[in-house]
Amino acid sequence: MREQVDVVIAGGGPAGSTTASYLAKAGHKVTLLEKAQFPREHVGESLLPFCYPILRELGVMERLERRFVRKPGVRFVDVDGRSQTTWCFGHVIKGPEALSFHVRRAEFDNVLLENSSRLGVAVRQRTKVTEVELEREGGGVLVRSVDDEGVAREHEARFFVDATGRDTFLAGRLRTKRPHRDLDRAALSTHWLGADMAGGIDEGLLQIVYLGGEKKGWIWVIPVARGRISIGCVLNHGYIREQKAKLQEQGVEDWQEALYRQELLSSPFVARVIKDARVAMPLAFNGNYSYYSESKYGDRYAIVGDAAAFIDPILASGVYLSIKSAQLVAGAVGVQLREGAEAGRAAIDAAYAEINGAYKLVDRAIHLFYNPVSINFAQAGGAANLLHEEHKDALAAGHYLLAGDFFANHKKYLEFIELLQKPKTYERYKKLVVKNTSYDTATCGYDAEAVFGAIMDEAEELAGAERSAGAERSAGDDPAS
Ligand SMILES: Cc1cc2nc3c(=O)[nH]c(=O)nc-3n(C[C@H](O)[C@H](O)[C@H](O)COP(=O)(O)OP(=O)(O)OC[C@H]3O[C@@H](n4cnc5c(N)ncnc54)[C@H](O)[C@@H]3O)c2cc1C
Repeated sequence: MREQVDVVIAGGGPAGSTTASYLAKAGHKVTLLEKAQFPREHVGESLLPFCYPILRELGVMERLERRFVRKPGVRFVDVDGRSQTTWCFGHVIKGPEALSFHVRRAEFDNVLLENSSRLGVAVRQRTKVTEVELEREGGGVLVRSVDDEGVAREHEARFFVDATGRDTFLAGRLRTKRPHRDLDRAALSTHWLGADMAGGIDEGLLQIVYLGGEKKGWIWVIPVARGRISIGCVLNHGYIREQKAKLQEQGVEDWQEALYRQELLSSPFVARVIKDARVAMPLAFNGNYSYYSESKYGDRYAIVGDAAAFIDPILASGVYLSIKSAQLVAGAVGVQLREGAEAGRAAIDAAYAEINGAYKLVDRAIHLFYNPVSINFAQAGGAANLLHEEHKDALAAGHYLLAGDFFANHKKYLEFIELLQKPKTYERYKKLVVKNTSYDTATCGYDAEAVFGAIMDEAEELAGAERSAGAERSAGDDPAS
């Protein structure tokens, strides 16, 4: 079986569905092949405010506002709980964008993919891309797929987009995948029900607890629903290996579970949050951290999202990097389809100059986070607020970075980061800003109603369902009934 379209896209996560939707909106014939059946679980639940304009353009904002928890900012906390800084998007972003989202990815990704179908994309789920010929005589590409019933198909297209996420379909085949060795981390994560929501979780803040030292790690606490919290722990691989050996020597059977709990309990803040909570799903282990593809595009292909690069998720940047890249690439591919190879090449060069700049900026900001002699986001209390006083421009940069201003202004922020890396400048900055606690803020000023709205309490909902299932069972057991 063979079909002919303008563009074939492999992968239906945020990068693939966004590329497909923009191309379909521009009138192109698009087929998207996704190996899983949605909704499917995925890690990466906290979004940045800069996603907002794209989600609005895609036409999904109303559904998101009805379904997901709102996120007014980020709080960085030191592991001992002594220092913390709350960065509120509302300090620099006005209007509804100041409130971002925390999402259940299974549902969020499904909303985006269903929306692609609505816009005219031919979406085939349970269909895996197995091969692609990029150098065909006479132009175009040939993509081969197989569905989960074993039916093989061929798809002829003028352009191929790889959005296969951390499977890195093309980078694997082209042998262009390279690791960021200095960001060699892995994450352990799961959801909790019935957690203690006090201390900023009830205000929708993403909380990041910095573990410091040899762990080079941190913990995320994300309220994904009322009463349901995602908690993940990111650790250096070297430390994980060492702890694994230690725990196994002690006879611990499930070392991942033991390590996860050990790290969570090392933070008094997280220990309190989970004190009376229970785990809601199996623990996930995400390794294969931080890599990039040396080549991200060619005459007839482009790679977007995690398939092109993945960087440590400390800034919660992945979904935004993916959908913004997808928007830029879709625009450039549209130029190629309409105006031909030469105009297309110039447009794709320009799109990737911006994309590569954004990834470089995020990479630098992440290194800043892990650099013990540089800025500590948890101790930058003054910085978070002083920027509204006499140091507006320089310090607003911190807020804009955490909100996702990575693309158009990446050069400006790169300069800002370079400045903070210089010991002398940093010392001055520390004296003036970091040690000045008089600017500390404890809240972004939102209450639970604004953040959780009409979203049900999942812990209570589940407990209710369990109670009524129990009641039904005991009624069924009753010989008199
Ligand atoms: C531990 C961790 C925490 C994170 N936290 C955050 C966060 O808080 N905020 C944030 O924004 N980001 C976060 N991220 C990053 C975020 O999850 C990703 O950047 C985002 O999912 C990338 O989207 P994507 O569409 O490129 O890839 P994906 O969402 O992975 O989608 C790729 C799709 O391709 C499909 N596929 C793969 N191979 C094939 C094939 N051969 N044929 C057909 N289909 C195929 C897969 O089934 C999948 O559905 C985190 C990541 C990790 C690992």
